[in-house]
Amino acid sequence: MSTDLISQDTIVALATSPGANGAIAVIRLSGSQAIAITNSVFKGKDLRTQASHTIHFGTIRDGDEIVDEVLVSLFIGPNSYTKEHVVEISTHNSKYIIERVIGLLMKKGARAARAGEFTLRAFLNGGLDLSQAEAVADLIASNSAASHQVAMQQMRGGFSNQLKKLREDLVHFASLIELELDFAEEDVEFANRDQLKRLITNIHQVIRRLISSFEQGNVLKNGVPVVIAGKPNVGKSTLLNALLNEERAIVSDIAGTTRDTIEDEINIHGVTFRFIDTAGIRETQDVIEAKGVERTREKMKQARLIIYLFDPTQDTVADVQQQIAEVAALSIPFVTLINKSDLLSTAQRASYAVLEPVYISAKEQLGIEELKEELLRQVNVANIQTDDVLVTNIRHVEALQKTIEALDRVLYGIDNPVTSDFLAMDIRQSLHHLGEITGTVTTDDLLENIFSKFCIGK
Ligand code: GDP
Repeated sequence: MSTDLISQDTIVALATSPGANGAIAVIRLSGSQAIAITNSVFKGKDLRTQASHTIHFGTIRDGDEIVDEVLVSLFIGPNSYTKEHVVEISTHNSKYIIERVIGLLMKKGARAARAGEFTLRAFLNGGLDLSQAEAVADLIASNSAASHQVAMQQMRGGFSNQLKKLREDLVHFASLIELELDFAEEDVEFANRDQLKRLITNIHQVIRRLISSFEQGNVLKNGVPVVIAGKPNVGKSTLLNALLNEERAIVSDIAGTTRDTIEDEINIHGVTFRFIDTAGIRETQDVIEAKGVERTREKMKQARLIIYLFDPTQDTVADVQQQIAEVAALSIPFVTLINKSDLLSTAQRASYAVLEPVYISAKEQLGIEELKEELLRQVNVANIQTDDVLVTNIRHVEALQKTIEALDRVLYGIDNPVTSDFLAMDIRQSLHHLGEITGTVTTDDLLENIFSKFCIGK
């Protein structure tokens, strides 16, 4: 590790969101001088003699001038997030006050923190491993119960523990094989090849499961991309509005939420569904039919779930069946939706029953709850409720794939006349890639890349 990443400076940054309307702002310091520096601008009591995990009321002063009345929380290292001394100063949330307080702290020796530097320190000081540090960013970004659950599970070490166990088993075998190298003359086998093969096959399976969990993990983290498709005038934009307006009505009741963040997304029992290409639905359908069909197909391919609408006043059961066959050919889960059910007679309704559709009236807002239940069923929410470890990070998937490649070479080596030193090398290689995930193996570039994506103050 290069020394520019491990710095002894005391750092300071606003930990709460800049410009937010809240009552309070929190300014955070970390480093050996965090308490002494705060103490030099704080009046109330001597912070240097206070116990860890205590809160103190007092004033921040610039000379004799009172800048603000504050609460100071103390965390004495290593019992803190970064494992260093950490101070959190709660001030009134005024841009002016925040700038004055941070300015004063910097004058007394603190340095402005870089993006992600608090979490980087937590990682470098052993408080978190790398995948846990990445989960901190995911947790802060989480906006649904599902993405929250996945990030929380990763931050609390679920994924790391699973990898740690795999690593331990592999390290054990690598050292036995390396021992064989020391006795090369005597042609001994300390590492039982059958056992090794069983172990590698097991690990292989676990890693494969983790890789295949990525699709679901990613969906939970970023939302399920959904396309609403169907011929012109079937009611696509009416449905989209019905779904989104209901969501907006719910969300706008929560004070301070902005409309932008919920644009074209709905949250059903904690899972986010993201409607893609909604601009295409809203714009007038004056494209020539053939072009329109081609475009619809392209856009359906980007979805993980398709809602396909039919208008029973226009389409016969045979038409519908033909269109369903085309959608089914894409091999993407889809929901068959008969819209305008308000115009359907009971007899007509019965004739569509073979298609097992969900009946709705987008205009009259009928059947919307049933549709939502069906959407949830399609993404298999039953799986989400389990405590399975899900991979949500493409960097982790890539490292897992490289691990598998190295393990494949080990398996080949066991069944073929390959010498122990090559076997040992491939096992070490797989350990290397597993280590990249948790940060047992890192480079400055990698760390720079991960932490620079964090905000300042994290
Ligand atoms: P799109 O071209 O698929 O986006 O279709 P629109 O949402 O623009 O709807 C086309 C027409 O169907 C409009 O006049 C809507 O008012 C009407 N419509 C949509 N949904 C329903 C419904 O459930 N019942 C009835 N009766 N009319 C509907």
